[in-house]
Amino acid sequence: MKKIIAATKNKNKIKEFKEILPDFDIVTQEEAGIDIDVEETGTTFIENARLKAMAIFEKTGIPALADDSGLEVYALGGAPGIYSARYGGEGLDDKGRTALLLENMKDVDDELRGAQFVCSIVFVTKEKVYEAQGVCEGVIAHEPKGENGFGYDPVFYVPHMGKTTAEMSSGEKNSISHRGKALRNLAEMLKARGVEPPMPFSC
Ligand code: IMP
Repeated sequence: MKKIIAATKNKNKIKEFKEILPDFDIVTQEEAGIDIDVEETGTTFIENARLKAMAIFEKTGIPALADDSGLEVYALGGAPGIYSARYGGEGLDDKGRTALLLENMKDVDDELRGAQFVCSIVFVTKEKVYEAQGVCEGVIAHEPKGENGFGYDPVFYVPHMGKTTAEMSSGEKNSISHRGKALRNLAEMLKARGVEPPMPFSC
């Protein structure tokens, strides 16, 4: 099998993985028939990405690609950070988490609304563990705008693009996003080692 398993059940992430790395043969956990929920007990993005990728690789022996990512808002001391998917607790969905973020930012002036999306990628193969990072800088808008993307995209405004990541096409978002940068960094790293997609394993 020459495939890579995406160690995530997040359909939005899988869509972006496939768009950003079109030459790689990426399958979902579901397609590979693997049902594991990995507990994210790490204290950093990279630790959590390692936990996810290692768990899938150990279960299947197939190369596994994991992303741990989130939003760091400077005025909130870096929150929600590694807890981005769980901000405000279990009961909230993306819209609820975004509304909570806007509420917590309501008294913060424009010049202090800076934030970054962070993405840590871990790719585990039989021989080696590859790690890559990407960051995307922006500011927290005052209200949600745009219908594309997921998570905090409607409130993440990128000044040099003049819009939120939810107002961008997928191509625009991937060209500047934390995930786009991290996955392209990974691809460069693999290429430098002479490992070309779709990945004839072992590598
Ligand atoms: P993870 O599954 O623990 O890595 O959680 C990632 C969470 O960070 C997501 O559920 C979103 O809330 C947020 N996030 C990560 N990447 C993005 C993005 O590209 N756009 C919007 N929100 C994101």
